[in-house]
Amino acid sequence: MTAWQDRFSASMMRTMAMPLASLVRGEGCYVWDDEGTEYLDFLSGIAVNSLGHAHPAIVAAISSQVATLAHVSNYFSTPPQLELAERLKRLTGAGDAGRVYFCNSGAEANEAAFKLARLNKGQGGRTRILALDDSFHGRTMGALALTGKPHMREAFEPVPGGVEHIDSTIRALENAIDGTVAALFLEPVKGEAGVLDLPDGFLTRARELCTEHGVLLILDEIQTGIGRTGSWFAYQQAGIIPDAVTMAKGMGGGVPIGALVTFGAASDLYTRGQHGSTFGGNPLMTATANAVLTVIEEQGLVANAARRGDELRAIIAGFSSPLITEVRGSGLLLGLGLAEPAALKLAAAALQNGLIVNAANEASIRIAPPLIVGDAELAEFERRFGLALASL
Ligand SMILES: *Cc1c(COP(=O)(O)O)cnc(C)c1O
Repeated sequence: MTAWQDRFSASMMRTMAMPLASLVRGEGCYVWDDEGTEYLDFLSGIAVNSLGHAHPAIVAAISSQVATLAHVSNYFSTPPQLELAERLKRLTGAGDAGRVYFCNSGAEANEAAFKLARLNKGQGGRTRILALDDSFHGRTMGALALTGKPHMREAFEPVPGGVEHIDSTIRALENAIDGTVAALFLEPVKGEAGVLDLPDGFLTRARELCTEHGVLLILDEIQTGIGRTGSWFAYQQAGIIPDAVTMAKGMGGGVPIGALVTFGAASDLYTRGQHGSTFGGNPLMTATANAVLTVIEEQGLVANAARRGDELRAIIAGFSSPLITEVRGSGLLLGLGLAEPAALKLAAAALQNGLIVNAANEASIRIAPPLIVGDAELAEFERRFGLALASL
């Protein structure tokens, strides 16, 4: 073991496997480790670094805001906070009736959404919450209760009650939903499960059923949101609107920030004192997110995500590799389904060839480059991933 590996195993909590490298620097779509080895980053810190690394707009926003006003508590408001809230109402389509709650991570956004669901009591009989098998909503207790992966929950039970996990089929949803359900939680694309798409028509039917039964449709767009799938939010491609959406990863470009945005009547559920966060919505994080969203808007990076996603699919098809049996996801969140459980081996081979991709599970490779990715990076991906495939 090298020195950093020794130090890692001596001091870091044993919640993570040994990291793949010790990174010291990044620029654009590239990062470098402590030995000077360069990697093309097609994971983006798990769909976080939307503008790549060390983007000048992020550097400028953080530097100037930290030198002006970094944190004030929620006893005070700040201009960057209100600018971001108004911007998110516009980009989500939540409009005038929309409301925004800021926090610091994905799990926290889902905790806020879970509590929102509990407030949708109806006459008191809405005690159930539906979520999907194989879904991922985070690691805190409430988010864990929503997560449809029993192996993550088991050691920590009891988790908050009332959550039922159903198959990701329209039929299972039709069978489970009724007037006793407070909310339905969904990821439009299940990223952690290996970038799994929902069945055709699922979101449309979910919207209809939720409206019919008074159930809140709560979308977890923590991974899919902020342009990642080729639209600002994945639900926009299905032509629906949710009652609430959670977001985090890509919105801060690398700084910790999350949000819950509510639509319509769901905006009236929370009342004063029912939720809060010390750091949530502070001017440092909201100014950074404003800078990220401004670059995404001004440089047309949502359209770039859609176009580069198509180009990536064409490159992957061009490998004609028998190992790759399907390509899932949309925009710049792609999952390669493998014919055998070789994902760890393939990701390791990619790393050997200077490319970061992620083994989301044994038989799936997740690809999520920064939204700024262009011709040169795609050509380099083709070369490096081709070498990795050939080396297996
Ligand atoms: C990453 C993720 C989360 C959890 O976000 P954290 O910031 O790690 O707490 C929740 N839901 C989805 C869909 C995610 O991808």
